[in-house]
Amino acid sequence: MKIASIKTHHVKCELETPFGFSQWFYGQRNVLLVEITTDTGVTGWGECYGPAEVIQTAVDRFYAPKIIGMNPTSTDQIWHFMWRASLDFARGGVLMAAMSGIDMALWDLKGKIRGVSVSELMGGAVRDSVPCYATGMYFQEMPEDLLLKTLVEEALYYADQGFEAMKIKVGKNVAFDEKLILAMREAMPNMVLAADSNHAYDLPEAVHIAKVLEDNNYAWFEEPLSPENLDQFTHLQNQTRVAIATGECEQTRFGFSKLIESKGVQIIQADLAYCGGPSEALKIRALASAKGLNMIPHVWGTQLNLAVATHFLATAYHEPGRKEEKSLFLEYDRTENPLRDELFEVNVNVVNGKAIVPSEPGLGVSINRDALQQFSVNSTEAK
Ligand code: MG
Repeated sequence: MKIASIKTHHVKCELETPFGFSQWFYGQRNVLLVEITTDTGVTGWGECYGPAEVIQTAVDRFYAPKIIGMNPTSTDQIWHFMWRASLDFARGGVLMAAMSGIDMALWDLKGKIRGVSVSELMGGAVRDSVPCYATGMYFQEMPEDLLLKTLVEEALYYADQGFEAMKIKVGKNVAFDEKLILAMREAMPNMVLAADSNHAYDLPEAVHIAKVLEDNNYAWFEEPLSPENLDQFTHLQNQTRVAIATGECEQTRFGFSKLIESKGVQIIQADLAYCGGPSEALKIRALASAKGLNMIPHVWGTQLNLAVATHFLATAYHEPGRKEEKSLFLEYDRTENPLRDELFEVNVNVVNGKAIVPSEPGLGVSINRDALQQFSVNSTEAK
């Protein structure tokens, strides 16, 4: 069996209500999808995290012509072939995002060819469902008093839907962040809560916010600092009991090896649409496990990334392991995203805050071709 064609689809939509985080506001969603078809007519899908137009060129012009004709089930062989093809000038960045989407599509394809789910390919599911945490509480353009009230109401809505865990955004300004952290804990005394600054703080600010999170029993502090300053992570983690989480900006086992060695991180958050794909994510998980750490993916985008992360967590063994495990929560973005909610005819089924692990061959989600046509702004095909 051979790879016969590689298509890319840049899908895009405008949002009704722009939402913000510590760095800027989103007014639209853009994703690059990768569709790989074999000479026997089997099709697999993947997605890439990052600037869709740029990654589209990388998949279509750079990688696709090199791997067409290869055996699609030789995922590690193809990964290392692509890695060597771009190693001299791109050990990461958007080219690695391109490789990630290709690799994800190959895992979907391999599952379909073998007639088994991606979790079966990853070693077998050890759970039928994965508890989710709701990602939301993004900033909106309104006065801070009203914003505080609006964000607490949003969180209570997720609690009503059955979520046992959720993550808020911080990093607007330290005074507001502190009020928000306290208001959330006051509104939900028993909720598993986490906070994400998207690398907004300097070290003194991060130390201060970590103390507030610690005093309010938050489960983790995500991207407190710039991903470039690993020594600051070490310093911060040494001063707080709150678990430091990071990794959505990092890629490959080589990048994560440095992150893990810093001893400044407790939760490793590689994104399977960016870190190098499912093939590389399994290697990163092994590295994390060797240091007693859990790898819990960052998830953003469409049903494809949600599905692959569900399979990944379905097959995860908790570090250090015990009979009554602490949950490894799946990130479930709850912000407006028609590309997640309207583009697929089969979605990951989330019931009462738990994602049911798909049992169909491959990733177990499928694209609606009419919706694809509607959302697509540019498609390519390499043969
Ligand atoms: Mg994050």
